[in-house]
Amino acid sequence: MKFKKIVDVYERLEKTPARLEKTDIVARLLEETPDDLISIVIQLLLGETFPKWMDKKIGIGTQLLIKSVANVTGIKESVINDWVREEGDVGKAVGKAVTNKKQVSFFSEELSVEEIYNTLNRIVEFEGTRSQEKKLAYLAKLFVAANEKEAVYLSRIILEKMRTGVGEGIIRDAIAKIYSVPSKSIDDAYFLVNNWGVVAKAAKDKNLEKLGIEPFTPIKVMLAQKVRNLEEGFSTVGKPCALEYKYDGFRMQVHKVGNKVKIFTRRLDNVTEQFPFIMEAVRKNVEGDCIIEGETVGIKGEKYLPFQQISRRIKRKYNIEEMAKRIPVVLHLFDIVYKNGKTLLNTSFEKRRKILESIVKEDEKLVLAKQIITDSEEEGNAFYKEALDKGNEGIMMKNLNAPYQPGSRVGYMIKLKPVLETLDLVIIGAEWGEGRRAHWLATFLLACKDEEGNFVPIGKVGTGITDEMFQNFTDILKESIISQKGKEVVLKPELVVEIAYEEIQRSPKYESGFALRFPRVIRIREDKGPDDIDTIERVYDIYEARK
Ligand code: AMP
Repeated sequence: MKFKKIVDVYERLEKTPARLEKTDIVARLLEETPDDLISIVIQLLLGETFPKWMDKKIGIGTQLLIKSVANVTGIKESVINDWVREEGDVGKAVGKAVTNKKQVSFFSEELSVEEIYNTLNRIVEFEGTRSQEKKLAYLAKLFVAANEKEAVYLSRIILEKMRTGVGEGIIRDAIAKIYSVPSKSIDDAYFLVNNWGVVAKAAKDKNLEKLGIEPFTPIKVMLAQKVRNLEEGFSTVGKPCALEYKYDGFRMQVHKVGNKVKIFTRRLDNVTEQFPFIMEAVRKNVEGDCIIEGETVGIKGEKYLPFQQISRRIKRKYNIEEMAKRIPVVLHLFDIVYKNGKTLLNTSFEKRRKILESIVKEDEKLVLAKQIITDSEEEGNAFYKEALDKGNEGIMMKNLNAPYQPGSRVGYMIKLKPVLETLDLVIIGAEWGEGRRAHWLATFLLACKDEEGNFVPIGKVGTGITDEMFQNFTDILKESIISQKGKEVVLKPELVVEIAYEEIQRSPKYESGFALRFPRVIRIREDKGPDDIDTIERVYDIYEARK
């Protein structure tokens, strides 16, 4: 299959913002795709050559890509880098380089989907010394054969920055459309196998319901709904129910067959190597084959460590053992979905917990989540207080009779945690976006006020913002630009926004001494001017109260 065919589709997708139209375009392409390429074509549409959990990482950053293109075209890296800045997009700069190439290449075949896939599949395998050279050589072959448009999208595939607006929802709808199956059945199947190729084939063969859990293929975890108080919690999950500490760490899904163990995060990244001691503990102290779930928390002595400390461990590639000793973690297990060849998805939570208890021998790395079963609000409130006093985020409440529903927020488990107040902050700087967002200011520097009324930075925000809002923000803020350096602009503090966040942290990164975890824009506070924003004192008060 010619790559040109997908490139045409990418272009059309980029031109239309309409979801239905995008779905139609994708569906038509899939219909014309030979069976053995469907899986690859879907991944390329998503801009993610391999499902993330497969451990196949292309591992080529912008600079390596530019180097390869420079080699092939004879255009200096510095020139291509200038073009990246001008265009605000690596793909376009690479396309320009290919059009202006100084080296005439010998006749080469038109690029095919198969060739791109096979090349990238080889590239992911290169490791260690000389791996960069080898990657460059393989990339060169692709770029020699690419024309301008192909080079643009090839770059985006390699860098995994597609931005045609095709997400999993559109892929799902397209599959539903061409094979006439309900979207819900496709979702349910996908949550179990996390592989669009497998799902598309099963949809075509009309046996989606035959797909099931396989060890070492991560499933999408069950999600929690939120309630404001215990009473609401009880009415959602029923009485009596299980109450558990809500540990503030990150979720792990651990797969074990015999002596082999793999650990995935909630976002399906394989982090087995980053947590050698957990792997060892599971190997030693969990009986039989299973898929179990829990929350991993960093612990120092009696105290929990803030989440960002262990998040450093998730990304860690080197000195893992040393880091593991310095930042010890404990896995608090709370669920099991598979045991010795059998799925437990339809087993009640109460039974699953019992099974979990029966196969786990607790040790210092591996414990069961603290749980009580109650129908009493008094007991529940005491447990909630105890959980918070011990430094947990709150509690989870779980329906005892419920099955495990992968990937869904169906109210079988709910979370209860103190509501954080939002902050009103002023935008004092911003950065121009990339790609689809190149014409918008896309990341915003936020500030609160210090005692003297100076604006001091407290974090950056780029989420919680709709396209309409980006446009609106850009229109307003363009008028307030004081200076610009590269993509960064300094703004006159005028626009006040209401910001929600998960947590306030101490941080040397910003002048205020604080940073916001997961900040998101709630709305523009047109009713407020920069003088009315929140003070550093209030930030401090919330921080202390939360501690
Ligand atoms: P949230 O991330 O705020 O939606 O809250 C749900 C998350 O809480 C889950 O995805 C887990 O990572 C985490 N969690 C902590 N303790 C528990 C527990 N005992 N049961 C279930 N989830 C838990």
